[in-house]
Amino acid sequence: EAEHMSKEEVYALRKQLFCDAQSISYENSDPLMIVRGESHHLIDDRGFRYLDSRNNPACVGWQRQAVVDAVSRQLAKTNSNTRYLHPYPVLLARELIRTMPTGSRLKRVFFVNSGSEANDLALRLARTHTGATDVVVVERAYHGHTEAVLAISPYKFLGKGGKGCPEQTHVVPCPDSYRERSDHESEQEFASRMAAYVDEKLEYVEGQGRRTAAFFVESGMSVAGVIMPPRGYLTSVYASVRAQGGVCVADEVQVGFGRLGGHFWGFEQQGVDPDIVTMAKPFGNGVPLAAVVCSDAVANSFTNGMEYFNTFGGNPVACAAGLAVLEIIQSDRLQAHAAETGAYFCERLHALMQTRAGCLIGDVRGSGLFLGIEFVRDRVSKEPASKEVSFIITQLLHQHRILTSCDGKHSNVLVIKPPLTFDKSSVNTFVDALELALQSVHDADLSKVQHTPT
Ligand code: PMP
Repeated sequence: EAEHMSKEEVYALRKQLFCDAQSISYENSDPLMIVRGESHHLIDDRGFRYLDSRNNPACVGWQRQAVVDAVSRQLAKTNSNTRYLHPYPVLLARELIRTMPTGSRLKRVFFVNSGSEANDLALRLARTHTGATDVVVVERAYHGHTEAVLAISPYKFLGKGGKGCPEQTHVVPCPDSYRERSDHESEQEFASRMAAYVDEKLEYVEGQGRRTAAFFVESGMSVAGVIMPPRGYLTSVYASVRAQGGVCVADEVQVGFGRLGGHFWGFEQQGVDPDIVTMAKPFGNGVPLAAVVCSDAVANSFTNGMEYFNTFGGNPVACAAGLAVLEIIQSDRLQAHAAETGAYFCERLHALMQTRAGCLIGDVRGSGLFLGIEFVRDRVSKEPASKEVSFIITQLLHQHRILTSCDGKHSNVLVIKPPLTFDKSSVNTFVDALELALQSVHDADLSKVQHTPT
């Protein structure tokens, strides 16, 4: 039956059976029915190929044959759980620990199935280890969809439908160098000023007679619009949090696994060593696989008699995918490729900024293949060009078959986080198309443009 269903039939059935809280990309213009993936392209029911600039879970390329083979071979044998011994979970754990920087305290692994589950467990580990409850997070952070991690995700609790900030969560301003750093401030001064907001929250918690369990942060903030913390920010924050007895959690769900180019993990770029790291999206290249890696100390506190069992966490099929992914990242030098391709991308975007069409680009930032293009109506006032971005996204889809994603506080940042196979020719396709889309913004009637979730 599936083979013969039209897109219209699928859409109608979905509207009937799913809750509308589950959004559909490009629903206002033309939702896509994706039936196949290939490297950094997705193919729809009509056979059209789309250049994928946004789906970081397909890290080594969509439907990469080696991953498909590894998963199929294991699924044909068994997919039991972690109460039985199996070589794959331990081999994967060993490989994962090998990716950690030399001398790191990160030595113990839990396998789970999603980023939300990873952060949920990280929260539990932090609270068990410290005996404290309060958590400090950064404005517009998103750490997942369970009840517990929603409560530490200001993007949700302060956004549409949110119920406000829970009493035990404390939100600090986002260290956004483009919008928050003043002209006379050095990077270091800005980092210190932003870090002081965390100190304030820690003192506030203490003043309430409580303690802070954890500071959660993404090493490159994705939903916030590709915000790379200024150098020195995390070093300073980590010291303050630890001085209060709290632990530091790095959420690497979006940026981990070599995407940033210079380092395998985002936190390394900041020169810090977290107590807990969470990772997911790209780990299984589309197969649900996620992990929490923590220090011996944190793992020991958790060994308190209560069993931790997760039916699917660390199943051999998902671990087979993870092993294949780690191997391909190495053998294809995808981290170095991300660095080179990202540098070329930035070069072309900076050149575009100098043209008349590119005057809407206010900032190009990020690292490797995690880049943000922030659009503004005026480079001095930095008025967000949100409607223009919605128009550009639709143009890129319909005129150029390019899939994009948009984020940031003002929904005016194109977030580039493609499969790591994305190459220079894809960059050229993307930037040439963006230039044409920018040119057409000038002739468009933006009053008719609706914001489309991507
Ligand atoms: N952390 C971050 C930074 C994320 O971006 C996301 C998902 N977008 C999550 C956690 C949750 O991951 P998942 O959707 O796999 O539960």
